[in-house]
Amino acid sequence: MERLFVAAAFHGSKYCWMDGEVVETKEALVSAMEPIHLGIFEGIKAYAEGDVLGRGRLNIFQWKPHVDRLWRSAAICGLKIPYTKNDLLEATRKTSNANGFETNIYIQPRIWPKAEAPEDVHVVIPAWTFETILGEENPRFSRQRRFIISSWRLIASDALPPQSKTWANYANSALAMREAARLHYDGAIFLDNRGFISEGTGACIMMARREKIITPPVSASILESVTRETLLRILPEDLGIPVEVRDVTRMELYASDEAFLCGTGWEITPITSVDDIPLGEEYPGSITKGVAKYYAEVLAGKVEKHTKLLTSVP
Ligand code: PMP
Repeated sequence: MERLFVAAAFHGSKYCWMDGEVVETKEALVSAMEPIHLGIFEGIKAYAEGDVLGRGRLNIFQWKPHVDRLWRSAAICGLKIPYTKNDLLEATRKTSNANGFETNIYIQPRIWPKAEAPEDVHVVIPAWTFETILGEENPRFSRQRRFIISSWRLIASDALPPQSKTWANYANSALAMREAARLHYDGAIFLDNRGFISEGTGACIMMARREKIITPPVSASILESVTRETLLRILPEDLGIPVEVRDVTRMELYASDEAFLCGTGWEITPITSVDDIPLGEEYPGSITKGVAKYYAEVLAGKVEKHTKLLTSVP
């Protein structure tokens, strides 16, 4: 069988963990005949302690909910992971150490059935560095971002499982992003199959209206986002911002004062306009800025009561 080089998407990561050992990424080879449609993955980030824009000791944010979701994704797709959750934490540490990472990393465990033994799976953990948009005075945060409502609906949960990070789901996001790019916009928001606001492409959406944060429920075909769950807890408790989880119409998004995407990849990303309708009068809005500032402090381990959300990499 032909061998395929799978390192293309690893963004400079020299080593990854594959099926039990750390290997050079260019040696992480699989057959071109692998059954990829039932592959699952997880997206996790580790940030520099003290300052999310800094270097030094790294901490994984919310390891447990991420790895629990990986196990749920596997169960939904009928895949059995032949390791413990702790094995994968150790594997992640080994990968990071082998690469000598000293600044923020994105960790993406990938699991899919083996071509030659579909009841068995490959488990690969690549990790690579990324540039955060968070952090004091980071100019990337306040860049203008014009979004559209996608003409693609979010996959309905009776067609594909939106609550599982199954690669097949991400064709949905890719189509919406391509549509936005083709129309010269920066991003897309999905409606669910009932016509209510669902989520962004790989991120949940929160909007601020009359000093409250409103976000769609899990039943709007969203992924149960670790970031969203974290914010739903800390916004009211720590920042005194009331939150409402309920269906949101497209009109209400247009009428919001502020909106932002939240997720591991997108972090807290402010949205300037939707379908060319500007959201609110100030950009980024004061609630979005306050949430992003506090969230960056939590990620950097500066908020004592939330340091338990962090797991050290070394
Ligand atoms: N929705 C989808 C479809 C996603 O892929 C992600 C990224 N995992 C999110 C929302 C945000 O989830 P999280 O905060 O757990 O990264």
